[in-house]
Amino acid sequence: MTPPTGQAARTRVSIIGGGIAGLALAACLDTRRFEVTISEQRAGLPAVGTSLAMWPAAQQALAAVGILDAVRTSSPAVEGVAVRDPAGTILTTARAAGLFGVSRIELIRDLDAAVPAGVQRAAGRIGGVRRDESGLVVGADGVHSVVRRDCWGARAGARITPFLAVRGVVPGPLWREHSGEYWGRGHLFGIGPAAAGTNWYAAFRSGREPGSFSVAEVLAETRGRYACFAPAIREVLATAVPDTSLAQRVWTTPPLGRYVRGRVVLVGDAAHAMTPNLGRGACEALVDAVTLADMLNRRPLDEGLAAYERSRHVRTQAVRAASSAVMRLALAERAQPVRDALLGLAGRLPGFR
Ligand SMILES: Cc1cc2nc3c(=O)[nH]c(=O)nc-3n(C[C@H](O)[C@H](O)[C@H](O)COP(=O)(O)OP(=O)(O)OC[C@H]3O[C@@H](n4cnc5c(N)ncnc54)[C@H](O)[C@@H]3O)c2cc1C
Repeated sequence: MTPPTGQAARTRVSIIGGGIAGLALAACLDTRRFEVTISEQRAGLPAVGTSLAMWPAAQQALAAVGILDAVRTSSPAVEGVAVRDPAGTILTTARAAGLFGVSRIELIRDLDAAVPAGVQRAAGRIGGVRRDESGLVVGADGVHSVVRRDCWGARAGARITPFLAVRGVVPGPLWREHSGEYWGRGHLFGIGPAAAGTNWYAAFRSGREPGSFSVAEVLAETRGRYACFAPAIREVLATAVPDTSLAQRVWTTPPLGRYVRGRVVLVGDAAHAMTPNLGRGACEALVDAVTLADMLNRRPLDEGLAAYERSRHVRTQAVRAASSAVMRLALAERAQPVRDALLGLAGRLPGFR
C-alpha cells in the first residue's frame, strides 16, 4: 500500500515470539516508524506463575515500558539472598535491596497490555524464517529459537545441561522464615516470596530426557532427593502439586559472536539463554528489548542495530558465563566441602550478613 503523501513508508518489523522480550519490544517500538507484527504460539497466559527476580536494570526497563508501578504493586520485595547449607544454617548473605519477585503470569499480562493497538498479532507457531532485507526480523523466540537456527545455523543450536530445574508456588508465607538458597552436594533448593505464597525451585543432575517425564513423577523424585534437607524444604515439597509446578531440563545457548546478521536480530533467551542461577535471564531480556527499541526509534535501521549490538552483546555474554560459573559452584559435588568452608568464611567478613 502506498503511504499518504508526505508520510514516509513504515519499516516492517516481524517479531517472532511474544514472551517477555518480544512483548516488551512491541510495547516500545514507535508505530509511526514501524509496522510491527508479533507472532506467538502460546494461546493465553503461561499456566504457572513462578517468581522472576527483577534487578534494578530490569526495573528501569519496566519503567521505560510504562508498567513499573503496576508490576511492583503486585510483587513482594526481596531483601537479600541467603546461601544456606542443606540443614538451613546461613553460610553467607548477599544484600539485594530494592529487588522484587514478579509472577511470570502478571509480568506477561502487564507487558501484553502495554502493546499498542497498532501492533498486529499473529497466533500460531512460526516454522521457519526467511530474511527480509526490506524489513527487520526479530528473534524473540526463546532458547530453542527458529530464527537463530535458520539464520545462525545448526552450530548455534541450544545446548542441554545435565541439570533438571523443578519449581513452583505453594500457599502460605513459609518464605518469611526460611528464604534463601540451600546448597547441598550436587543439589540446590531455593525458597523466596511469591505474590500468592511461597516460590520454590530445585536443581539437580538428571538423565531424564526432555519430553519423557511428567511433573508429578519429577515432584515425587524431588521429594526423595531432598528428604534429608531442612524441614522447611520438606514442607514445601509435601505441599507442592503438579498444577502449580514446572519441571524442565535446563538448556542454554552457545556463546554467539553477534546478535545481528543483516536485517535479523536476536533478543532475550534467543540470543543468550543462561542457566537460572543468577536469576537474570528475564531481566536481560527486558533490557535487550527496551535498548533495541530505543536504538531503532532514534536512528536509521542499520545504525540502530549496530548500536544495539555494541550496547548489549558483551554484557549479556558476561552474565551468561557468570550464571554458568555460579551453577557449577552451587551444584558442586566433589568440591562441595571446600565451597561451603569458603562461603562460611566469606559470611564472616565485614559487609556480609
Ligand atoms: C528455572 C528457571 C528460573 C528462572 N528464574 C529467573 C529469575 O528469577 N529472574 C530472571 O530474570 N530470569 C529467570 N529465568 C529466565 C527467564 O525465564 C528467561 O530468561 C526469560 O523467560 C526469557 O524471555 P524471552 O522472552 O527471551 O524468552 P521466552 O520467555 O522463552 O519467550 C519466548 C516466546 O516465544 C514463543 N515462541 C517460541 N518459538 C516460537 C515460534 N516458532 N513461533 C511463535 N512463537 C514462538 C514462546 O511461546 C514464548 O512465549 C529463569 C529460567 C528458568 C528455567
